[in-house]
Amino acid sequence: MRTATAIIDFQALAHNYKIIKSYAPNSKVLAVLKANAYGHGLERIAKALPQADAFGVARLDEAIALRKAGIFQPIVLLEGFFSPDELTLLSEYNLETIIHSKEQLAAIDKAHLDSPIKVWLKIDTGMHRLGISPADFTSFYHALEQSKNVQSDIILMSHLGCADDLNDSTTAIQLNVFKQLTSSKHECSLANSAGICGWPETHFDWVRPGLMLYGVSPMLQPSDQKKALQPVMTLKSSLISIRRINEGDSVGYGSFWTSAKDTYIGVIAIGYGDGYPRHAENGTPIYINGRIVPIIGRVSMDMITVDLGEGAAGKINDKVGDEATLWGVELPIEQIAMRATTIPYELLCNISRRVHITIKK
Ligand SMILES: *Cc1c(COP(=O)(O)O)cnc(C)c1O
Repeated sequence: MRTATAIIDFQALAHNYKIIKSYAPNSKVLAVLKANAYGHGLERIAKALPQADAFGVARLDEAIALRKAGIFQPIVLLEGFFSPDELTLLSEYNLETIIHSKEQLAAIDKAHLDSPIKVWLKIDTGMHRLGISPADFTSFYHALEQSKNVQSDIILMSHLGCADDLNDSTTAIQLNVFKQLTSSKHECSLANSAGICGWPETHFDWVRPGLMLYGVSPMLQPSDQKKALQPVMTLKSSLISIRRINEGDSVGYGSFWTSAKDTYIGVIAIGYGDGYPRHAENGTPIYINGRIVPIIGRVSMDMITVDLGEGAAGKINDKVGDEATLWGVELPIEQIAMRATTIPYELLCNISRRVHITIKK
C-alpha cells in the first residue's frame, strides 16, 4: 500500500515547456527551479529539461548542487549573492547573478576574481521589493559596466507584481518604466509565468517561467489561461481505515466536525507532516474511486478524514488500500489552494521529505 507519494510526470513537463515556447516563440527560457523546483526535485527537474536555455535559483546552495549534478546550462541567482565571500564560488562554479543593490555593487568591485561574472541588473519598475530605482539606474549601470569583475554583456531585468490579473493596471505601468530605461542594445527580461500567459509585450529576450512549467495556471481567472497546461505532480496516498459512524458523532481533533447522518468515514495516510495544508477546510475535495469526497474534521499530522458517504444499499464500494488523489491530474491544485486560503506555489513548496517520489512511466 502506498503512503504519501508524489508522482512526477516528465512528459507533462515537456508539454508545458512547449506551451511556454508557443506563447513566447522568440524568447529564450530561463526555467525557474528555486525551492527544490517548487517541490518537484531540483536536480531531477533540471536533468529533465535539457532544452532550457538557463536555470534560475534563489540560493547559492541550489546553484552549486546543480553544477555538482552535471548541469551545464547557465544558472542565475535570482536574488543575487548575499555576502562578498560568495563571489569566489560564483566565479568558480561559473554562476550568473542578479545585482539589485549598492552593497552588491561595492562587493563585486572589491573582489579579487579569476574571471569576471555575468550579471543581470534588476530594476525596480514598481514592485518595490528588490531592484535599483529608475532614478539611480543610469549611474548604477555605468558603475557596473566599469567594474573589471563584471562581464560586458549585462542583462537588464525586472519583476512583475500583478501580472496574474489582466484587469490590473500595474503591469502596463511597470512595462512602460522598463521600456523607458532599456533598449535593444541589451538583452532584457521581464516576464514570469503570468507575464508569459497574459502579457505578450513583456516577453523580451528571456522569459522566466516557474509555476506554469509545473503545470499550474498562474492566472487569477482560470479562463485567462488560454492553453492547457498539464500538472507535473500528482499527489496520492491510500485509505488506511474505513469506519461506520452514526448521526451526531464527531470526528478528529477538537471534535471540529459532527456528522448530520449515519455515514462511512475514510482515513487517508497523509497530513500536514507531508505538506498537505492544515488549513484545508471542511469540504476540500479528495478524489477517490472516480468521485470527489469532502474532507471532514481537522487535518492531522499524518492523516486526514473524509466522508465517504454510502451507496444506495447503505454500503460503500471503497476498501482499505484504495488510492486517493490529493491533487494533480484528476484534481487541480488550484482548487485545494483556494479551500486552504493559500496559493498553489506554497502547497508545492511544502511537500516534505517524507513524501515518496516516483516517476511516471
Ligand atoms: C520566482 C521567480 C520567477 C518565476 O515566477 P512564476 O510566477 O513561478 O513564474 C521569475 N522571476 C523571478 C525573479 C523569480 O524570483
